[in-house]
Amino acid sequence: MSHAEADCLFCKILAGDIPATEVYADDDVFAFDDIHPGAPCHVLVIPRKHIATAHDIEPADAALVGKLFLAAQKVAEKKGVAESGYRLAMNCGEGAGQSVFHIHLHVLGGRTLNWPPG
Ligand code: AMP
Ligand code: ZN
Repeated sequence: MSHAEADCLFCKILAGDIPATEVYADDDVFAFDDIHPGAPCHVLVIPRKHIATAHDIEPADAALVGKLFLAAQKVAEKKGVAESGYRLAMNCGEGAGQSVFHIHLHVLGGRTLNWPPG
């Protein structure tokens, strides 16, 4: 699995080359519906900057990563799950289930979420 920006599905979504259903966007962050939703609310929040995995985040990215969480709050409000609760998850590496190598925060809600996940 390539981790390069040129091969990156989410960079192609950011470029408008692959369609996605926008939920929230600003200068640094983009959020869109997951194509295979695992819950009534399943949105992916990504930075516009290509970062392959959570393990590749650098100190200079700290503020940007914080913006993913602030965008997730807006997503939760828009999707109506802020009150009922929602889960934020980021898989890091193939062994943890990461399949797209551009960091993304899953925003899951709208149903009972068991813990720990499988
Ligand atoms: P992960 O397995 O944590 O890397 O999550 C990748 C997520 O991207 C999965 O939940 C997929 O359903 C989702 N996904 C893959 N391709 C697309 C796409 N073209 N548009 C929206 N979501 C996608
Ligand atoms: Zn990318």
